[in-house]
Amino acid sequence: KPTVAIVGRPNVGKSTIFNRIVGERISIVEDVAGVTRDRIYSSADWLAHDFNLIDTGGIQIGDAPFLDQIRSQAEIAIAESDVIIFLTNGREGVTDADEHVAKILYKTKKPVILAVNKVDNPDMREMIYDFYSLGFGDPFPISGSHGLGLGDLLDEVAANFPDVDAEEIEDDVIRFSLIGRPNVGKSSLVNALLGEERVIVSEIAGTTRDAIDTPYVHEGQKYKIIDTAGMRKKGKIYESTEKYSQLRALKAIDRSDVVLIVINGEEGIREQDKRVAGYAEDAGKGVMFVVNKWDIVEKDNKTMNKFIEDIRGNFLFLDYAPIAFVSAKTKQRVNTLFDRIKLVSENHALRIQSSVLNEVVEDAVARNPAPSEKGKRLRIYYATQVAVKPPTFVVFVNEPEIMHFSYERFLQNRLRESFGFEGTPIRLITRARS
Ligand code: GDP
Repeated sequence: KPTVAIVGRPNVGKSTIFNRIVGERISIVEDVAGVTRDRIYSSADWLAHDFNLIDTGGIQIGDAPFLDQIRSQAEIAIAESDVIIFLTNGREGVTDADEHVAKILYKTKKPVILAVNKVDNPDMREMIYDFYSLGFGDPFPISGSHGLGLGDLLDEVAANFPDVDAEEIEDDVIRFSLIGRPNVGKSSLVNALLGEERVIVSEIAGTTRDAIDTPYVHEGQKYKIIDTAGMRKKGKIYESTEKYSQLRALKAIDRSDVVLIVINGEEGIREQDKRVAGYAEDAGKGVMFVVNKWDIVEKDNKTMNKFIEDIRGNFLFLDYAPIAFVSAKTKQRVNTLFDRIKLVSENHALRIQSSVLNEVVEDAVARNPAPSEKGKRLRIYYATQVAVKPPTFVVFVNEPEIMHFSYERFLQNRLRESFGFEGTPIRLITRARS
């Protein structure tokens, strides 16, 4: 999926445009997990194009001076996106700060689309002529508050999407990421995992530029560790800001099949862990928990069970995710991670034969009759798997309105009991049979 960033000086309307383009995409899980608070990153679509959108304005770098903030945001746009929307304000004309943004954007080869916001009606169109001086070609007049001009702008954005990455079609590779707060031991774990493994050093042309993904082979299986901010040496000032790390983490999750939520065994679970876990579940990724630094945790024979209870209590919607207790330092149980990642990835891509699936569903209905409402009983005709990653099932019924959340949950549990699905979310969609 391509990534689009909105960049521009303060008060040109970046978050208004962001929200307009993203629309109402708040899911229950994300909302409960608090991911949607001050959102700066979201999936979006325009016609047949799916993409991710970043509002760089939401990334504030401590108390850095005004021009440094703008510079960092523009650099983030350049580093993290495939297409950049350079937003300006038609009512104020071209300002020095706009020119400051422009100068930084001149340095990139990525397509930059210039948009002039607050052009609220066609009579105001001539406001855009001033903006040719910025040197990014034809400016697109838009109105965030009235929702005007966005179609033409997004057409132009989509026309500039890069060709599909070669790496995205390599489907024999298991892609995973390690997500967690700073200092939980992500880099140490990567090193411990790679230890003796053969690291394939091959730069595939056209892969996500600045990401340093690490490919390797273990027992004949190809893997790729997706890079996150915390795994690199800190350089630019914005790389130490929390919002930026969060952005990198969410982007890494999007590119992964399996997400390892790394928790520091000494510190326990934190709010931020819940946020990223919620996002991963919502994005339909395989998930497992890795409790690291287990070597320095003071333990008795109940410690591990207590920790498991703690994880289950804090991540209610991730009751299917396996939990590993490891030490990157002593390498204790680190080698068990390979098999678990592989298992989760296989479950994530599991396809169930229709005949077997329908036996399980029939059996479930026989044990626990479908709900009824106002004298009408829900009839389940048949079920079919429509997608993998994650496994997604459509259940055809007489009247979808009679389907209860709790009955859907029951059916999901039956599917899990029958097929395992350890580590992967599954989706169930109820449809009327046509
Ligand atoms: P990251 O920010 O999540 O990548 O964390 P690092 O891998 O840089 O580790 C942070 C610190 O924790 C370093 O000082 C590591 O040596 C230490 N560390 C990492 N894993 C372990 C572990 O399993 N046990 C112990 N005792 N220390 C660890």
